[in-house]
Amino acid sequence: MDQIKNLSLLSAMCENVNSAITVTNPATGHVLGYVPSHSRETIENVIAKAEIAQRSWAKTTAKQRADILMSWYQLLMDNQEDLARIMTLEQGKPLAESRGEVAYGASFVQWFAEEAKRAYGETIPTPSSDRRIMTITQPVGVAAAITPWNFPIAMITRKAAPAIAAGCSFIAKPAAQTPLSAYAVTELARQAGLPEGLLNIVTSDDAVMVGELFCSSDKINKISFTGSTNVGRILMRQSAESVKRVSMELGGNAPFIVFDDADIDLAVKGAIASKFRNAGQTCVCANRFYVHDAVYDKFVEKFAAEVATLTVGNGIDNGVNVGPLIDANAKNKVQRLVEEAVAQGATISIGGEDLDGQFFTPTVLTHVQHSMSIVQEEIFGPIAPVIRFHDDASLIEMANDTIYGLASYFYSKDINRIFAVAEALDYGMVGVNEGVISTEVAPFGGVKQSGIGREGARQGLDEYLNTKYICLGGM
Ligand code: NAP
Repeated sequence: MDQIKNLSLLSAMCENVNSAITVTNPATGHVLGYVPSHSRETIENVIAKAEIAQRSWAKTTAKQRADILMSWYQLLMDNQEDLARIMTLEQGKPLAESRGEVAYGASFVQWFAEEAKRAYGETIPTPSSDRRIMTITQPVGVAAAITPWNFPIAMITRKAAPAIAAGCSFIAKPAAQTPLSAYAVTELARQAGLPEGLLNIVTSDDAVMVGELFCSSDKINKISFTGSTNVGRILMRQSAESVKRVSMELGGNAPFIVFDDADIDLAVKGAIASKFRNAGQTCVCANRFYVHDAVYDKFVEKFAAEVATLTVGNGIDNGVNVGPLIDANAKNKVQRLVEEAVAQGATISIGGEDLDGQFFTPTVLTHVQHSMSIVQEEIFGPIAPVIRFHDDASLIEMANDTIYGLASYFYSKDINRIFAVAEALDYGMVGVNEGVISTEVAPFGGVKQSGIGREGARQGLDEYLNTKYICLGGM
């Protein structure tokens, strides 16, 4: 932590270790510091203050909100290096990736500063001449979010920026492993001039209590969650009682398909970026590779050769491409899936080594069958199982054979096939000849059990707005 120059970014860290969450570095196991573990009563007070702050905020103009968001964006970029270091220290991803996430996270703040001014209503042609019909949009009120550890900044800003732009107040509970990044970006929002009570972080070692409180509170009008499908189901059930609006960004099981007409070098480049970013711990990571029989051997040979060049290590060190897994449970899961796959007949083409600490070598598995658990489950680690396929019809069936529907990828040069496959894949997002597709200008989200709602793009603002219909009669 002594590498951080702007100490205001660490102002939420506390000394009182008795009622605190311990933040550790997953690369070294060293304790980085402590943040408060808030009581139920404290969080209820935060919600009450957020409700009051929201009433005044809703009366500001879109331009006033946009100006503050733009200042926040600028401060995020001015502090990119410090924010990236905090992220790498608590989350483990390589520093270059953390810098990228700060820029990606900040891009949502910039985007929604611009979109705030475009929360348009409509005038609708009337069916009766004595009436005029229009709609206006209004903020939903207080929005609450629960976020994961794998994108500690972007998962906050992708929700907070549209909420603030729409005129809502916002409360987030970040993952217990990565609270420092969440507090740091919130401090910068305060410095940008965002009034008190509008953007709040609560931290707790009792996530279940926070989830129940958010979902049951009648002061909170909207829940936005990013995390596992299991927890998403719990939050949806809990939100049913008060009929809250929900957005759910949940798990994925992305297929990465290489057709026989693909540019193999491009496919290998996309496969490396999609699979090994964040040590394979992203919801849009390629989870399973389907490669056509005619190019299978060529693809595997080139892919394994590229994987061999990846350097595993502490993300703060120069030249590291793959950092640690987030915790011991994550590593145990990866080990189990590899062992099961090998026992079921898969072959380790490269990797498969269990390194000290929370590190695992980037691994390519061949002779993989679609039915294996490593294909059916979300791996969340640096393992690439490669399956051989023979025809497009059975391929599409296998690709869609999952409860998930977040991201999918395929490589082909045939324009007819490109449209046919893009339309047939049952996913919220499709990358064609591209392995990294997230951007603030495009709608991010899933279908099936990968979630409900979209983040980013113009659709991201709608998640925090209600549409009100106004009928003017007696004209
Ligand atoms: P997780 O276990 O669902 O945790 C996510 C958040 O939920 C954390 O803040 C956690 O708090 C909290 N939480 C856990 N149990 C809870 C409960 N019963 N009630 C309320 N909150 C609860 O997920 P994860 O392992 O951290 O993250 C990985 C998952 O997130 C993967 O499935 C991945 O695909 C998904 N993800 C999806 C997207 C997307 O946009 N679709 C993006 C990123 C990640 P604590 O940390 O305090 O336990």
